[in-house]
Amino acid sequence: MIDNFYEMLVEKNKVLNLTRLTDREDFYVKHVLDSLLVSKICDLKDKYILDVGTGAGFPGIPIKIFFPDTKLLLMDSVNKKLLFIEESIGKLGLNNISVIHGRAEDLGHDNNYREKYDIAVSRAVADMSVLSELCIPFVRISGEFIAYKSSDSDEEIHSASKAIQTLSGSDASISDVEIPDTGIFRKLVMVKKKISTAKKYPRKPGIPSKNPIRST
Ligand code: SAH
Repeated sequence: MIDNFYEMLVEKNKVLNLTRLTDREDFYVKHVLDSLLVSKICDLKDKYILDVGTGAGFPGIPIKIFFPDTKLLLMDSVNKKLLFIEESIGKLGLNNISVIHGRAEDLGHDNNYREKYDIAVSRAVADMSVLSELCIPFVRISGEFIAYKSSDSDEEIHSASKAIQTLSGSDASISDVEIPDTGIFRKLVMVKKKISTAKKYPRKPGIPSKNPIRST
């Protein structure tokens, strides 16, 4: 099934800029195996998962294909990418997975989505402080926000502690995980949600990135 997704992605990439990685090996390692790393730090079975800024469907699509017991919502502000994903979902015959078009800053205030997910994941969307504001509002109390970060992002993660706290997240727990047999490492940052996020967050579209919550 993942082979079919690769073929569809490469085909669509000719007319829509979805990914830089079109080489088959790169696709499997840097998109698929990378997306699946979250399964090394938490149990995905029966979880309701939101992928914020999914782009061409990462990490959401590989998670759904390899962990079919999950329920997924893939969110992005660019509708063209979501149309590709919807078409792929149909062709692959995947169930319990859907897409939602919009900005996280807006949808984070919609009661259909706010504080509804066991896990919110996000890869390559924004700096950790910004991402905390975009993602934590969607996480249910006792649920988790998991950010895919590069191996050199210690400083960035550290400087997000004020934002995480402001959004009602716990201290970040950082795992260094290897894409199996590649020597390629990344950091997965897990934040647990303790209590409800204050109603004023997320702030209006664009504000989280323009003026990230920081201690200084
Ligand atoms: N997660 C994918 C895509 C990363 S590119 C991957 O790892 O390959 C970042 C994506 O986030 C883009 O598709 C962009 O449209 C989306 N995005 C950026 N800011 C967003 C926001 N505030 N709300 C929703 N989607 C956003």
